[in-house]
Amino acid sequence: MKISSQRLTRLSPLPQRAAPSRATPAIDRVEISERPTNISGWARAGVTLALMGAALGCLAGPATPGLIQAAPADAAKLSARYQKVDPKILQLLEKDGVTVSVVRPGQSFTATGVLPARSLADYQSEMGKMQATAKRVEAATAPYARGIARLQQNGGDSSQLQRERRMALLDSLPQDSLAVPYSIPSLAGLIRDSDGLHKLAQLQKLPKGTTLMAQLVGAKTPTQIQEYTQLVESINGTRLEQARQAALATATPAQQAAWSKDPGQIPLDLKGYDILVPDLAYVADGSGGSVRVNLLDASIHGAWADGNGKTVSNSSINGQYFSQSRKILVQSSRIGTPTSVHELGHAVEDAVSRHDPKFFGSWHSKLFTAYQRAAQSGTVSEYATSNVGEYIAEGVSHYYENPEVLRQKDSKLFELTQQLLERAGQLLQ
Ligand SMILES: [Zn+2]
Repeated sequence: MKISSQRLTRLSPLPQRAAPSRATPAIDRVEISERPTNISGWARAGVTLALMGAALGCLAGPATPGLIQAAPADAAKLSARYQKVDPKILQLLEKDGVTVSVVRPGQSFTATGVLPARSLADYQSEMGKMQATAKRVEAATAPYARGIARLQQNGGDSSQLQRERRMALLDSLPQDSLAVPYSIPSLAGLIRDSDGLHKLAQLQKLPKGTTLMAQLVGAKTPTQIQEYTQLVESINGTRLEQARQAALATATPAQQAAWSKDPGQIPLDLKGYDILVPDLAYVADGSGGSVRVNLLDASIHGAWADGNGKTVSNSSINGQYFSQSRKILVQSSRIGTPTSVHELGHAVEDAVSRHDPKFFGSWHSKLFTAYQRAAQSGTVSEYATSNVGEYIAEGVSHYYENPEVLRQKDSKLFELTQQLLERAGQLLQ
């Protein structure tokens, strides 16, 4: 699995492919035992296993002791799976700092270290940038907002203008902005529920104000609610105030009295005022606390872990490559399946894109053409048609696991996978 579209290698043709080495030369074992002692416990366990396996003569010691960071039994299963993979490619990934870890139910997902946590200071230091985004959005959408208000006053149909305003809003958002519009469901805290705020408001019998917005992105403590609210206020400036005033103007005297004491309760027309929110969610860290992550990472967290931040066994995700941390996570129940090789495929693609952007560019445009054709006419698996990243990851796993099936079902993917793997194999200096 792969999330971002930016994220996401080989041997001579199969008949001439060298058999995977069954025994590690003695010199390798010496190098392993001479590794610095400050390596992690699991890595050390892996080294021990490699030495044990070599001593018993039943397991090949991995030539890439740093790649797999798992308990001995899991490491042995992964190593066995990776026997089919070109050792040069495993070495390249290891050199690049890629690691493969196994996730068991009940662990802290945060402790896997795959999602970058952010401090409040990170957001505060980006405030100027977020405010600039809000100003840009305001300038781009203001003419539409005026037109919509005029039409609504005259009883006209404003739906076309509302669609145009949304396009203008999206066009005016920089890619790297930490401020996102509340009205984008997949991002703005409505992560897996397009009407999350509405449902939360019904559930808690509270108006849709900033307090509920904070709760929807996981803020639980008064401090978190306060810090989130302050960020939303700082980003939107006078527009949030205007939205609040508009709500107060039509409120009953009792509502006005209650809301003026607690502005966080004032219901807001978030779309009408193009309110932006920080790209921030709070997720449980699995040990009673919580951490701040971005919204996309919060949705990843939600797929791997429960509300307490503990990894779940019934996750929809079998494995995932995280390009930022260069970590591969594999569910413990999937170690003995092609998933672990599929995830290597994502890592290989990522490595080649970094090491040789020129090769990657021309190769990837061919891949994309092949993917478009395959998405129509069928390929090696249903999952391969999800997107171009999954297409090549499925190519890599089938290339090693079931090459003849790949060649038969999608010869173009076979060829392109081979090109990628060959290039990756050459990259190891
Ligand atoms: Zn994948």
